[in-house]
Amino acid sequence: MSKRYYFDHAATTPLDPEVFQAMEPFLKDKFGNPSSIYQEGQEAERAITEARERVQELINAADSREIIFTGSGTEADNLAIKGIAMALKEEGNHIITSETEHHAVLHTCEFLEKHYDFEVSYLSVDSEGFIDLADLREEIKDDTILITIMTANNEIGTIQPIEEIAEIAAENNVYFHTDAVQAAGQLDIDVQKSKVDLLSISAHKINGPKGIGALYVKKGTKLLPQMQGGAQERKRRASTENVPGIVGFGKAAQLAKKRLPEKQSKMIKLRDKIINRVLEEIDEVRLNGPRQEHRLPNNASFCFRYIEGESILLNLDMLGIAASSGSACTSGSLDPSHVMLALGLSHEVAHGSLRISLGYRTTEEEVDYLLEKLPPVIQKLRDMSPLYEG
Ligand code: PLP
Repeated sequence: MSKRYYFDHAATTPLDPEVFQAMEPFLKDKFGNPSSIYQEGQEAERAITEARERVQELINAADSREIIFTGSGTEADNLAIKGIAMALKEEGNHIITSETEHHAVLHTCEFLEKHYDFEVSYLSVDSEGFIDLADLREEIKDDTILITIMTANNEIGTIQPIEEIAEIAAENNVYFHTDAVQAAGQLDIDVQKSKVDLLSISAHKINGPKGIGALYVKKGTKLLPQMQGGAQERKRRASTENVPGIVGFGKAAQLAKKRLPEKQSKMIKLRDKIINRVLEEIDEVRLNGPRQEHRLPNNASFCFRYIEGESILLNLDMLGIAASSGSACTSGSLDPSHVMLALGLSHEVAHGSLRISLGYRTTEEEVDYLLEKLPPVIQKLRDMSPLYEG
């Protein structure tokens, strides 16, 4: 197969060889059930304990018992939101979120509205994707029980002011959950400093395996389990543990923490090279999200006028480049991304979106290849577009 250039690390990342190495024994000989009291079980249990400590360290939780392993980032978001909603339904039925959340949050909120009579306020965002803290304050009512705002956006890379949001939530005695699935491994996450109550992460975004996530739940937080069964995860998430997945997550968390400073500076340099060159060399292009400050180190997102994101992707794919037009979960659908529309873009502009997301192993040569191939692709598509007049 000819060389591929992978620029879709926000969708998923390759499994790190060290992570695979750590997982391998648990896919083969070390197959014990962690609930079993004999040696095979206890070995698996010890491996889970160690992985939990590594995830704890990645987000600087005070206690490893505050980490609940889940089947994905999506499940962590569901558990956080439904778990709080159902635990506190006698105290209130109002939840605040934002229009640019991942569907794992938005659809969970909509589900609670539709089936359980919860009321949800969806905060709008400005043209760079930031919520307004004054709007947030205004939306809080006596019956507000939860604020759920993502740390960083998966499509446009905007980083929300998490510490300030947590402060506002605490002042009003409201729980604060943040989806940090895209932020983990990119930003220095510190749940003690930022004072969040619940935080979701997912292993496959940090060079770990798919199908394993975690929810941080601050000690003392009321949360109703959403899965009934055995006593795993301190009775907060029944299911025989995905031991290889958890071990892989632990290793990926350890590597992510160790590599963070080097990874951040390398990716910011490459990201800014992409942003600057695209804005310089291509006309009628919009950068989505802020230019530098409060932007994920690995994200560059654009809208190119007069053309469709899907056509850009197909043309890039033929040249060996994998990128995205938005979130992996919405590609395949013809609707423009809800995130682009929330920025105030027209359907026409929103349709021309392209997300480039970098990884730990992305090289300058790969970025140069992308920057060489992208402008002629855009030009070719515009030349074919009835909307473009040159
Ligand atoms: N939240 C955000 C911000 C994401 O980007 C994603 C995945 O794209 C998820 C949640 C869902 O995570 P998972 O793929 O582990 O279910």
